[in-house]
Amino acid sequence: MADEHDRIDEQSSHFVSAASLRVRLDWFNKLRWGAAGCILLATLLADRVIDNELVQAPLLGVVGVLLVLNLAYVVRNRRVPPRNIRVELRHVKMQMVGDLVALTVFLNLSGGIENPLLYMYILHVIIASLLFKGREIFQIAWLAIVLFTADVAGEYFGFLPHHHLHSVGDLTHEVPFILMTLASFYLVLLFSAYIGASIMKHNRAIKDELVVRQQALIAADRAKMDFFRFVTHEIKSPVSTAQSAVETALELGAARMAPAVEDMLSRAVGRLELAGEMVRNLADFTRGGDLGAENMGEVDLNRLIARTAEDLHELASRRRITFELDLPGSPVTVVSSRSMLEKIIQNLASNAVRYNRDGGQVRIALKSADGGLKLEVADQGIGIDPADQDRIFEEFYRTPAAQEMTNMGTGLGLPIVRKFVKQLGGQVSLHSAPGRGSTFTVTLPFPSSGGERAGEGPPPRSPSVSAEAGS
Ligand code: ADP
Repeated sequence: MADEHDRIDEQSSHFVSAASLRVRLDWFNKLRWGAAGCILLATLLADRVIDNELVQAPLLGVVGVLLVLNLAYVVRNRRVPPRNIRVELRHVKMQMVGDLVALTVFLNLSGGIENPLLYMYILHVIIASLLFKGREIFQIAWLAIVLFTADVAGEYFGFLPHHHLHSVGDLTHEVPFILMTLASFYLVLLFSAYIGASIMKHNRAIKDELVVRQQALIAADRAKMDFFRFVTHEIKSPVSTAQSAVETALELGAARMAPAVEDMLSRAVGRLELAGEMVRNLADFTRGGDLGAENMGEVDLNRLIARTAEDLHELASRRRITFELDLPGSPVTVVSSRSMLEKIIQNLASNAVRYNRDGGQVRIALKSADGGLKLEVADQGIGIDPADQDRIFEEFYRTPAAQEMTNMGTGLGLPIVRKFVKQLGGQVSLHSAPGRGSTFTVTLPFPSSGGERAGEGPPPRSPSVSAEAGS
């Protein structure tokens, strides 16, 4: 499994795949045949065309080396199937280093800095930027810089021989020189344009593909939501009917029941409670939008938090868990969706109780922060492994530690929290370590004072404060 992931990461972090890289390599091989041919022609015709006798033997040597290397590359491309992007890229890098060295030797033999073909270094860097990532691109650029500087300095200081491209006169008035300079300038420009256009074409294709996939994902998500909604609707009343029937049977017939039957019915009530909880959570999860629209109004967050703590008091006191509320002195009244805020606070607070240690503490704090409000719900419980900290916001995910602690849980509370917080324009974050408790922090973009912003704020369900937020 790990191997599979490594392979996918390795492949997807590069812009090209091993197979598409091969196609480009074939293309580079053709370019190299062309370059070797041009050097050969220039060497043979130089004295006739530009009245300049080039050092033929070493230049022909460069051509020979290029041809042999290129043949080896072509044979490899045909024989070895493209499997691993890393191996392929290593080959490209080797080829590029070879090409840069060959270009430098060629330039040294044909005028050094006088030779306008020095633009060809740029092409290599452009190609490198298409194939490699970050540091590797700069490695190629630096290699080109070092090689050419070494040649220029070597020729200047006399360590390397300087072969004049032209032996007499002012080069800027020599037509062949001007033509060659312009030709290499055009080549670099056109090649750059071609590369830019092909990158954009590739990017556009990727973007189109992403849009199509995103639409498919949105459609799948909608279908999932519709399914949840349908299931929730269909099982809601059978579950509550069954629960009240079993509870009534227990109440009325407990005295006459065999203990085994009573025990069975009590467990059935427990299971039906869990199923009811799941149905309620699913209903919240699938009806988020409606909840916001239906329940807009003034909400006193201080009161809401205090009431939630009261509601959880019985459950908490069974395990000697205490609440500490750190709330602003004056009421914090916001205009927002009461139901959404209620669900956010309830889910976080009830998790802080359920996953706390016996005798632990739940601390709920409300503060103003960065022009908004910050709600913190902290416990001293089992904590959450870093590897699980993203996953707990996924639907139905429960950590192994939580499953071991209690089977009463649906894995829908936090997805609901995240969804509602997002709909209110806020964010939820988590600090936790296994065995050392958890702190969930919700920031909400409610202005920290005054009602002047009522009706403003993030659409569609803009929360706003209609009285002093205090703190
Ligand atoms: P559940 O109904 O299982 O509590 P939630 O969506 O509310 O569903 O939480 C998902 C999971 O996140 C939980 O099952 C638990 O593993 C973990 N979790 C949530 N809150 C806490 C917390 N305060 N401490 C430790 N684990 C938590």
